[in-house]
Amino acid sequence: MTRADESPLATSVQYVKGVGPVLAKKLAKLNVFTVEDLFCLVPSRYIDRRKIDTIAGVEEGKERTVIGFVQAAGPAFLGRKGKQIYEIIVGDQTGKISAKWFHFYLNRMRQMFQVGQKVLLAGEVSRYRHTRQFIHPDVEILDKETEASEIGGKILPVYPLTEGLYQKTVRRIVRNAWDLYGKHLRPKLPVDFMEKYHLADPWESIALLHFPSSDISIDLLNSRRSQAHRTLIFDEFFFLELGLAMKKSRIVRQEGIAFPFQQGPHEKLLAALPFELTGAQKQVLEEIRRDMEGRYPMNRLLQGDVGSGKTVVALAACLQAIANGYQAALMAPTEILAAQHFQTVSKFLAPLNIPVGLITSGIKGKERENLYRAVAQGETPLVVGTHALIQDELTFAKLGIAVVDEQHRFGVLQRQALHKKGPSPDILVMTATPIPRTLALTAYGDLDVSVIREMPKGRKKIATRLYGEKQREMLYRGMRQELDKNHQVFVVYPLIEESEKLDLKNATEMSEELKRIFEPQHKVALLHGRMPPAQKDEIMHAFKAQKIHILCATSVVEVGVDCPNATAMVIEHAERFGLSQLHQLRGRVGRSHFQSYCILMADYRRSEDAKRRLNIMVESNDGFRIAEEDLEIRGPGEFLGTKQSGMPDFKVANLARDMDILSLARTAAFELIDQDPDLKQPKHQAFKQILQTRWRGKLELVQVS
Ligand code: ADP
Ligand code: MG
Repeated sequence: MTRADESPLATSVQYVKGVGPVLAKKLAKLNVFTVEDLFCLVPSRYIDRRKIDTIAGVEEGKERTVIGFVQAAGPAFLGRKGKQIYEIIVGDQTGKISAKWFHFYLNRMRQMFQVGQKVLLAGEVSRYRHTRQFIHPDVEILDKETEASEIGGKILPVYPLTEGLYQKTVRRIVRNAWDLYGKHLRPKLPVDFMEKYHLADPWESIALLHFPSSDISIDLLNSRRSQAHRTLIFDEFFFLELGLAMKKSRIVRQEGIAFPFQQGPHEKLLAALPFELTGAQKQVLEEIRRDMEGRYPMNRLLQGDVGSGKTVVALAACLQAIANGYQAALMAPTEILAAQHFQTVSKFLAPLNIPVGLITSGIKGKERENLYRAVAQGETPLVVGTHALIQDELTFAKLGIAVVDEQHRFGVLQRQALHKKGPSPDILVMTATPIPRTLALTAYGDLDVSVIREMPKGRKKIATRLYGEKQREMLYRGMRQELDKNHQVFVVYPLIEESEKLDLKNATEMSEELKRIFEPQHKVALLHGRMPPAQKDEIMHAFKAQKIHILCATSVVEVGVDCPNATAMVIEHAERFGLSQLHQLRGRVGRSHFQSYCILMADYRRSEDAKRRLNIMVESNDGFRIAEEDLEIRGPGEFLGTKQSGMPDFKVANLARDMDILSLARTAAFELIDQDPDLKQPKHQAFKQILQTRWRGKLELVQVS
């Protein structure tokens, strides 16, 4: 079978007729490197040049195409002393229209236009005083006899461009590439499959995107709902889902560890908790319990909004493995969070006499050695830690379950690495950034999903307000009110890598100002990521013990920090944070029955996106709604934290727009794998071949044999 990199489609785009090194560089900016990439460069829209209008008939404000003869051409001046422009007058039997250029090379224009020539002009029509005009129209000099036209009489694709790359050029090279490589067919999918899902031939669909036939509906093209679009979107989703379905079916058939549920330890844990589990927590625990009892490895995603109480669910899951003589690992994305988890679980596990270890990069030397040895010999049943947990030096005697907290911070790769720490450990990943359904079905499509939809009882909606600098006095009054009630306050400063030094200085200055204002009654401390772990620890401890009342921090407190007595979250430069981050930060308060507040301090100069983000925050407390908006604003790559998420870039499909097709493709893929888990049947060979080239060994996600 041919490998993808031997396919003619993998030819560098530089070798397409009309493309040289210079053009290839420009195309690279559009992520077009190969002939295949070029074919997958989807037009962003289409313009309708099917109808040629009479000049008298064209209206202002519309995209129009006309054909006429050049009656006059030459440079002109705007106003008496104004800028030089180039103007031509074109007429047909019905009237005249002008075309103007503000940027041009005079010699080129002189060569191009001669009086008496037949030309086609296309573009938006506007009016200047009494004349209608085109500004910088698309122009084509026509052969008087044939009138054959490249750009008139058809639907034209409009491609995304970059600096120095022109529509005309892209259209021409796509045409050249298609003439040479367009016959390269991929394996045909079975006819009954295509009929069942109303698909056209994918290869013909690509051709239609670039060279739409003139009987196609332009509205369908522009809304990306033509049959060609639908086919290609389906195709993209389908092969992704097919990979995931296969991966999932392999896990199900893998031999895992069965952990019979142990009533005794479980009840001891419940008794140690200062609260009763919510219905939602019980429900997901039931799902996890059944997974863990089963013989195949658990692979589950637990979603729950910030503050919904995921930690204790994770702990109960770990306990199910530990009670059966296995080890458990709990991985957190930051040192602060790992330390906090360590404290929480140590406390809750104390009555059960289960030792807990903490492994972070801050723990060094002898202490580290001892810890590693204890874990390797199985003396530490529960290990809490950061990324340090997946380092090679750390081996477990008998790892039964790995829990990954705040999964959106980790990629698929890390998930994979944890998997390898034991023979076939159960995996539970947790996220407080609710994953929009589309992403749950793609990036996490191989996982089973549990959702905590309920908050612990007595929680109040966090009141969120948007302030500017003028309201700073009011802010301080509000903070004082909370502090006087013996509550605590977070003040968060953005820390952005590019301007880290400056930001740190700002955060430090801010903490100095807060000290001047609030001390000595209320104690202020600064916390940032650059501090040595021991110092961070000390400050967090002091804050939890209410010895510090105002914690002025960089976004290190973003994830997971749990301090129920804090009731106000002040976010400075809120316009600089992303939506999910803002929601995470806000989630640090509202963790008790007290009314909590979130104050967004923002610069008055806000970009459109920033305004949108801030308004959503004020309006909504619903993590799911916020995640959907965030996905829409940032797109899936950014949302999941760049490429490390292992998500493929979709070329035609769009997760925010194409949910319906995604669902269909997913069902189709899972049905197929249900029938033929390893795609062994002869009629499924095309699926297998395409799958192999599509995934090209990506991230070991699927190994097709
Ligand atoms: P998250 O889901 O954001 O990780 P945590 O697990 O940190 O949330 O829990 C948030 C807070 O709510 C913690 O202080 C925790 O002890 C508390 N909590 C968890 N479950 C309950 C419950 N059922 N009733 C009351 N408080 C709870
Ligand atoms: Mg948490």
